[in-house]
Amino acid sequence: MTPISFEFFPTQTEIGAEKLQVQAQQLAVSNPEFYSVTYGAGGSTRGRTRGTLLATRETTAQPVMPHLACLGHSKEEVLYILKDYQSLGINRIIALRGDLPSGMGRLDNAEFQYASELIAFIREATGDHFHIETAAYPEVHPQARSMDSDLDNFRRKVDAGANSAITQYFFNPDSYFYFMDRIAAMGIDVPVVPGIMPITNYMKLARFSDACGAELPRWLRKQLEAYGDDSASIRQFGEETVSRMCEKLIAFGVPSLHFYTLNQAAPSLAIVKNLGLYPES
Ligand code: FAD
Repeated sequence: MTPISFEFFPTQTEIGAEKLQVQAQQLAVSNPEFYSVTYGAGGSTRGRTRGTLLATRETTAQPVMPHLACLGHSKEEVLYILKDYQSLGINRIIALRGDLPSGMGRLDNAEFQYASELIAFIREATGDHFHIETAAYPEVHPQARSMDSDLDNFRRKVDAGANSAITQYFFNPDSYFYFMDRIAAMGIDVPVVPGIMPITNYMKLARFSDACGAELPRWLRKQLEAYGDDSASIRQFGEETVSRMCEKLIAFGVPSLHFYTLNQAAPSLAIVKNLGLYPES
């Protein structure tokens, strides 16, 4: 059975945090490999990321994986965070750059400019303690000069010590298949796990996709637009579309599927059930 994992973001309020743990409990029945919790670049969610990780581990008794974005952090701060996670028995981490404030090209004098530098630092500071995940972009990172330069960057991250990768979400599985061909031709053989985005709200998805450079194919956009405010139809269409894409990915032999839950259990669980990856299905 293809393993699965789920991603949360830290909530703003106590009530939100309690509701999130209800979602975590619902997801736990599908026996995920781990839950990951995102991190605001510059450390904006530092305490809440940590709190969400610990609460989720307690609620579900399953492993958790912090995201760590290095932009705006000093080496000393990163070391402190890593040692803290080590002392909590956390041994898996996803090492990211994070995003620059809009309009900013480069942070001068920053101790970390790119994720590859963070990965190298984690290895240097903590040896083999962490299983390090990195981000991959089958549709090319929006700031990359070219696909080739983005692939070179992926190689740099693997050479620096990343053990595996999770992709930005996509709705065209050919982009993933092509990415896998390209890295295989480069001699890179780390597992690359597709990031899966359930479709529940067209406007939010369109905004988010624009920001992160994920492509919404025209046929998908047009169909979602046509549903207007009919959120039940959007959900049903989204569930079927994403389930079909996941079937193709599983047939290809993906190592695992990582769900961007947006803190909602039901849309991801529906897909997991459709795929027969749910213990009771
Ligand atoms: P990098 O690998 O450093 O790449 C960033 C860009 O720089 C790319 O265009 C790359 O081609 C280019 N580049 C890299 N090195 C060089 C170089 N030496 N010279 C020239 N160009 C170079 N963001 C958050 O803030 N918090 C999160 O929790 C978070 N979680 C994520 C989880 C996943 C699975 C994914 C896919 C993304 C996540 N992000 C998160 C978003 C991520 O931080 C952004 O996409 C960010 O813009 C790039 O991060 P990266 O780690 O891929 O950066």
